[in-house]
Amino acid sequence: MGLIKDVLTKLPTGFATVLKTLKDKPVTVQYPEETRPMSARFRGRHHLKRYDDGLERCIGCSLCAAACPADAIYVEAAENTNEERYSPGERYSKTYEINMLRCIFCGYCEDACPTNAIVLESLEFPTGYTRESMIYKKDMLLESPPISVAATPQRTPPGKYDRPILPYPPIDTAE
Ligand code: SF4
Ligand code: SF4
Repeated sequence: MGLIKDVLTKLPTGFATVLKTLKDKPVTVQYPEETRPMSARFRGRHHLKRYDDGLERCIGCSLCAAACPADAIYVEAAENTNEERYSPGERYSKTYEINMLRCIFCGYCEDACPTNAIVLESLEFPTGYTRESMIYKKDMLLESPPISVAATPQRTPPGKYDRPILPYPPIDTAE
């Protein structure tokens, strides 16, 4: 009897709460159709960048792999030639892989890269059903060349790309 009385006295409070919130908009975000605004410092998944002339910025130096605290990056370098050039300088990354299951999105790889080749920027989150699919290979990471610019490898004139780092666009020094 005591239990029934208890329930009956609390029911009106419950109904009142439901009625009070009935006109409120739901707070559930229907991801992935809807997304929340991200912080300006958000780091999404990695991309390997190119220069405007289509050459790859990555020179296969492995500094990103050395800086990675999670040992998530594997780089294997190979030699460029003027007949088959992927990047400025002597070497390019023949193999570039990131194990997204290990990655903690710290951005150290980005900071270590001397050519701004690896950038964490996309809102896309790495997902997959198998361990293998979570190892992102170079073809998944490398961005497309600009429109009407040749992809790599390119045939380039001797002496034009002797240095591994091309000048960056001017840095905005405004405070
Ligand atoms: S973001 Fe951090 S953990 Fe992920 S690959 Fe780069 S350095 Fe490694
Ligand atoms: S992404 Fe940058 S740091 Fe990593 S191998 Fe390429 S050039 Fe070197």
